[in-house]
Amino acid sequence: MAIDLSQTSLEDLVREQLIRVGEDPDREGMRMTPDRVSESLMWLTRGYRSSVEEAIGDAVFEEEHDSMVIVKDIEIYSMCEHHMLPFFGKAHIAYIPNGRIIGLSKLPRLVDVFARRLQVQERLTAQIASALQEVLEPAGVGVVIEAAHLCMMMRGVEKQNSKTLTSAVRGIFRSDQRTRDEFLRLVLHPSTLS
Ligand code: ZN
Repeated sequence: MAIDLSQTSLEDLVREQLIRVGEDPDREGMRMTPDRVSESLMWLTRGYRSSVEEAIGDAVFEEEHDSMVIVKDIEIYSMCEHHMLPFFGKAHIAYIPNGRIIGLSKLPRLVDVFARRLQVQERLTAQIASALQEVLEPAGVGVVIEAAHLCMMMRGVEKQNSKTLTSAVRGIFRSDQRTRDEFLRLVLHPSTLS
C-alpha cells in the first residue's frame, strides 16, 4: 500500500527530495530552496487552477470578418508529463471567424491554461484547438506548436538541436486542403516583421 503523504507539505516533500539526491537542505544556500521550489512549482502548474472561461472573460465580439486571423510566435512554456522537465517554444494560432472574433491578447492566456500543466505537446496542441473551436464556433481553427524539450536535450538521447512540431486542425482547416496549406505556409514561413 502507498504511504499516505497527503498531510505532508510540498515544502517537506521537496526537502526530502533534496536529501534523496544527495544534498544537504540545511546548508546556507539551500535553506529557502524547498519554499522557492514549491512556490515555483505551483506557478508552473497554475493551469490546473485556471479555466478557459476565466482566460477569455468577455473578450468575444460579434464581427462580420470571414478571412483567416493568425497570431504567430506566442511563447510557450510547459513541462513534459514524463519527466517534469520544461519544453518551450512557439505556438501559432489561426482561425476563420463565423460571426465572432476573440480579443487577440486573450490567445496567449488561453494557451497558458493548458501549457501550465504537465503535458505532452500533442495534447497541448489539440486542447488549444478544441477550446477555441468551442468558444468561438468559427469556420475552423489551426494550431501549430514548435518546441524544444529539455528531456531530450539534457538527458537520454541528448539531442540539442531537434525541434518537435505538432499541429491540430478543426473545421475547414481539416476539410479543405487549400485552407490548411495557406495556414501552414503562413505560420511556418519566417516572419517579414523581424
Ligand atoms: Zn519528457
